[in-house]
Amino acid sequence: MPNAGELRVLYTREAISGRVAELGRQITADYQGRSLCVVGILKGATIFLADLVRSISLPLTLDFMAVSSYGHATSSTGVVRILKDLDTHIAGHHVLIVEDIVDSGLTLRYLLNLLAARGPASLRTCVFLDKPARREVEVPLDYVGFAIPDVFVVGYGLDYAEDYRHLPYLAVIDGEKSRG
Ligand code: 5GP
Repeated sequence: MPNAGELRVLYTREAISGRVAELGRQITADYQGRSLCVVGILKGATIFLADLVRSISLPLTLDFMAVSSYGHATSSTGVVRILKDLDTHIAGHHVLIVEDIVDSGLTLRYLLNLLAARGPASLRTCVFLDKPARREVEVPLDYVGFAIPDVFVVGYGLDYAEDYRHLPYLAVIDGEKSRG
């Protein structure tokens, strides 16, 4: 296990749960009378998605994609690889992509283009975290949990070398040196 430095809490479990409930209410209101196809991006979005969908009062299906852009490093290569595609067809459905964090925007941009080509009735994005300072390509963010500065965060689904995903809060790793 790499020495990742000290953890400093950025958002507590309570702050996160309050914000996620708000997002769920907003999504419920925006999609009234429709059903939703929620597409979670593995693995980072799993914890956020699990809490989010339980705050949404609509008919809803779940599907997942796994993509790889970073491997075990913490800087973007710009290369997006599909490791797992959807199990279901999304043509004609209202699709909401749920992602953990938007950094350069390359991953979400790629996913939006890919899924848009499959003919959904609508396609929106919901991200737990937005790191606008690092954006390289513009991506439309319809629902955002928190905007954060350019720091490397872990917890609530986000990892460092696959650890820390299970932390119920969001933390910054102080002294994290691996960013390129
Ligand atoms: P993008 O393609 O927007 O540059 O990268 C998005 C992906 O980068 C996220 O899904 C996540 O896996 C990873 N990432 C970006 N910033 C962070 C961060 O601060 N912490 C962690 N754990 N992953 C990050």
